[in-house]
Amino acid sequence: MSRKRIIAGNWKMNMTPSEAVALVNELKPLVVNEDVDVVFCVPAIDIIPAMEAAKGSNICIGAENMYYEEKGAYTGEISPNMLVDAGVKYVIIGHSERREYFTETDETVNKKVLKAFEHGITPIVCCGETLTQREQGITIDWIHQQIKIAFLNVTADQAKTAVIAYEPIWAIGTGKVATTEQAEEVCAAIRVCIGEIYDEATAEAIRIQYGGSVSASSAPELFTQPDIDGGLVGGASLKPDFGKIVNYNK
Ligand code: PEP
Repeated sequence: MSRKRIIAGNWKMNMTPSEAVALVNELKPLVVNEDVDVVFCVPAIDIIPAMEAAKGSNICIGAENMYYEEKGAYTGEISPNMLVDAGVKYVIIGHSERREYFTETDETVNKKVLKAFEHGITPIVCCGETLTQREQGITIDWIHQQIKIAFLNVTADQAKTAVIAYEPIWAIGTGKVATTEQAEEVCAAIRVCIGEIYDEATAEAIRIQYGGSVSASSAPELFTQPDIDGGLVGGASLKPDFGKIVNYNK
C-alpha cells in the first residue's frame, strides 16, 4: 500500500495573527506538492486568520493542542468543538514540550486522542525518547508503551486514519537530526506495535512521521524510507525552506 506523505509544520508559540497571515501568504506558493498533505499547526489565536489566508490553497490549518472536555470551567483551554467550528482537521496531541512544561501524561494524551476522534479531528500523536533513554537502550520499549496507552480504546478504523509523529526529544530544536537508520528503525517499530494492537491492515494504513530538526537537506532521505510517511517540522516550518521540505521528492 502506498501511503500519502503528510508534512506538518509546528509553529509552537511563534507568530502573531498578522504575522501568521503574512507567513501563510509567503509560503502558499512554495508548499504546492500534490503528493503530500500539507498542514500548518498554528497557535490557537492564529487559526482563524491563517485559515482565511490559506483559502483556495492546498494548506490545511491544524491546531497545536486541544482539551479533552467538551466545554465549561477550564480557563484558557480550547475545546474540540471550537476547533471543528473553525474548520480544523488536524491537532497535535502530546508534543514533548507539552509533556515537559504542561504536565501532559500518556493518560491525558489518550483522553485527547479519543476526544479528537469523537469530533472527527485527526490527531497527530507525538511520541519520543530522551537521550538518556536512548543511551540506556530502552527506546523501543518506551515508545511501545507510549503508543499502547495513547491508543487505548481507539478503534482500528479510527487508528487507520491517525498520524503518529516519532520525535526523539534530543533532536527537537537542537539541530541534531536522527540518522535515517535511527528514524526508520523506530518508525518501523511503531508500525509493528500498531500491528500488534490491531492488525496488519491498520499498521499498513497509519501514517508515521519523523520530527526533530528536519531540514531541506535531511528531508529527501528521511521521507523516502519505507516506514516514514512525512514529517513534523518545527523551526524550519517558519521559513521559506519549508517549501523545499514539502517538495522533498522534486
Ligand atoms: C517539533 O517541535 O515538533 C520539532 C520537530 O521541532 P524542530 O523541527 O525545530 O526540531
